[in-house]
Amino acid sequence: MSGILIINTGGTISMTASSRGYVPNGKAFRAQLESMELLKAEQVPHWDLIETEPLLDSSNMTVSDWNRIGGLVAQNYDSYDGFVILHGTDTMAYTASALSFMLQGLDKPVILTGSQIPLAEIRSDGRANLIDSLLIAAEGRVREVCIFFGGKLLRGNRATKYSADELIAFVSPNYPALAETGITVAYNDSALLKRRPGPFSLQILDEIPIGVIKVFPGIQFSLFDQILTEKLKGIVIETFGAGNIPNGGSELLPIVKKAVEHGTVITVCSQCPQGTVMLGAYEASSALAEAGAVSGHDLTTEAAVAKLYYLLSKGYRAEEIKRLMETPVCGEEKE
Ligand code: ASP
Repeated sequence: MSGILIINTGGTISMTASSRGYVPNGKAFRAQLESMELLKAEQVPHWDLIETEPLLDSSNMTVSDWNRIGGLVAQNYDSYDGFVILHGTDTMAYTASALSFMLQGLDKPVILTGSQIPLAEIRSDGRANLIDSLLIAAEGRVREVCIFFGGKLLRGNRATKYSADELIAFVSPNYPALAETGITVAYNDSALLKRRPGPFSLQILDEIPIGVIKVFPGIQFSLFDQILTEKLKGIVIETFGAGNIPNGGSELLPIVKKAVEHGTVITVCSQCPQGTVMLGAYEASSALAEAGAVSGHDLTTEAAVAKLYYLLSKGYRAEEIKRLMETPVCGEEKE
């Protein structure tokens, strides 16, 4: 066993300025890491660095990139104590959610981090994010997929990007932080995930057609008739509050019903970052449940999307997927 593997996938942390804005610069980043005295300190674990090719602005991440990252963790699983994945902030919560499902039986720390300011710049937050991630990974108390950012260690499938410019860019509105860094690292031991059963294995995800629809006042559901078809195997509807839709769903109901009959799994999430969906609590949400949609409880949209990819890739039948969408698999939703 030897130290931590850093997997650089791109994002602001490894970017430098170009005439068209920031772009990943793997060569400059590697040289910079290798010359950083702090990373040679005795307290810092041994680390190796590999890069995915090409490095990405994370807004370009796809399912096949998640598979590549998961594959690198799996190939190196026995050779390292833990993994630090450098990633852009824009879709970090999606990748963290996806990996939390894909890395089945995970028993080592996998920490995603990055920065709002490139490491190459003087005020970069990347330095502290990277060093704390390495130290937390080496300590090995957390054995799940997490995001470390701005002094907070969050469960990956509970986190969401909250700020486009603050250095504390992520929040976890429905689950406490796993640890916070101050003078020391304060762990919240009771919040840490118990290991998922079974040996470690990687579940590859398929590029399954799924969709997300956000409800808004005045939405004309009839225009979505063409979209909400069996061609989409899974759909996340971001509703108001506890799962409410306009007109009690009278317009949406037949469309949802038809999609459900064709085997599409429809999951109801909330536009409120905090709190949980309770289908049937109001008349305005009952229709969705009656039409066969399932409750996403307190799932983030990121986790709901990743969970749909995961369960659909497992090849389960629609009824089983619907049951599992409402059941926590790896700490992503309430019991
Ligand atoms: N666009 C960047 C990315 O997600 C933003 C960042 O890293 O902060 O790759």
